[in-house]
Amino acid sequence: MGYTIENVTVITWDDELKITKNATVKTDGSKISYVGSKADDINESITDIRIDGTGKVLIPGFVNAHTHIPMTLLRSYADDLNLQTWLFDHIFKIEDKLNDDDVYWGTQLGMLEMIAGGTTCFCDMYYFVDKIANATSESGMRALLSRGLTNDSDIDDYSDDYRIKEAIDTFTQWNGADNNRIRVSFAPHAIYTCAPNYIRAIRDTAQKLGAYIHVHIDETMKEHNDSLSQYGMTPVQHLNSIGLFDLPTIAAHCVHVTDEDMDIMKEKNVSFVHNPGSNLKLGSGIAPVPKALQKGLNVALGTDGASSNNNLNMWEEMNLAALIHKGVTMDPLAVKAEEAFKMATVNGARALGFNTVGQIKQGFNADMVLIDISKPHYFPEHNLVSNLSYSAQASDVETVFVDGKILYDKGEYKTLDKEKIYYNIKRVYKRLFLT
Ligand SMILES: [Zn+2]
Repeated sequence: MGYTIENVTVITWDDELKITKNATVKTDGSKISYVGSKADDINESITDIRIDGTGKVLIPGFVNAHTHIPMTLLRSYADDLNLQTWLFDHIFKIEDKLNDDDVYWGTQLGMLEMIAGGTTCFCDMYYFVDKIANATSESGMRALLSRGLTNDSDIDDYSDDYRIKEAIDTFTQWNGADNNRIRVSFAPHAIYTCAPNYIRAIRDTAQKLGAYIHVHIDETMKEHNDSLSQYGMTPVQHLNSIGLFDLPTIAAHCVHVTDEDMDIMKEKNVSFVHNPGSNLKLGSGIAPVPKALQKGLNVALGTDGASSNNNLNMWEEMNLAALIHKGVTMDPLAVKAEEAFKMATVNGARALGFNTVGQIKQGFNADMVLIDISKPHYFPEHNLVSNLSYSAQASDVETVFVDGKILYDKGEYKTLDKEKIYYNIKRVYKRLFLT
């Protein structure tokens, strides 16, 4: 069974972005089986469900390339603080009290928010990952999950490290699950929470399993300067000297990376995940995204956790990415609308290693979002991509597909029970913060 979406505007690209009006897009099972301008030359199965796309645009689902989804539980819990104070004095303390049930419901809450905003795929780093994987599997979303790994004691043998053991168990159980909708990576949290030998041990484990690496890099000036005084190298150079980048790596933040660092990242094919909302809120700085784009790095976009953003809205990140660099560089061409749109979609999919995700293209996974463009802020239509990057709202999302299944349609969740989630979030909130 599949869907046939007719009379729809579709955004596609190979080398160049292309807008096709009055298009037909057809899905067959989990894949996109047809994208074209003529409805008559396709074989329509009798079981196909037809959707009228008049007044709508079909875009690839957003890929949130760096988040900590259960941190929805800590939304607005500790605001207006710098990263060190926020993380060490507030977040880590409350996180010690979290149990697997809390993480499960926090994940579900994050999924309500992401799906309704057109995000179909995310890259996560947290703990109790089995519960996150359970919730992801039930929701129908696509994800690259990881257990955040921290250990600052520099020893020779980490074979008894319970966190690495948990990460291996999660990998064994979940990597490739649900038709490869769920994959598992390894996540040394950051250089300021992981001893060099620990990062080495994680690299070796991930290499054996053929896993990706997800890591925070150079988020603050403090991290950058501490790295220079402790190792005589920048965080990127330090991690490169450990050999971490020999594995496919997703580097979150990269706020203070140097020109030379970006050359290393380019050479090693490290994806640069820009988190403008979180970096602004924590006062961490503004990442050198225009430079990274000039150097040809794969730049993706992420919200970071809802405790430092404070939402999981990729439209806002796209808007910030398209705006803030113009202000900082005083160059209106610094990050164009089209580039921000690619960062939120195809570049994110590429970073995560989902190679048939992030485009509306025949043979790709049907991870797609129908946007209602019959609203005032889409008129007139001088430039649809500009309208999507500068004017769109998350509430314009009408229908969300992942792997050819509808997860959300006109305000209704097909896989998640909103009332049950709210009830449990209130219960968890009471236990964590009011008792
Ligand atoms: Zn993060």
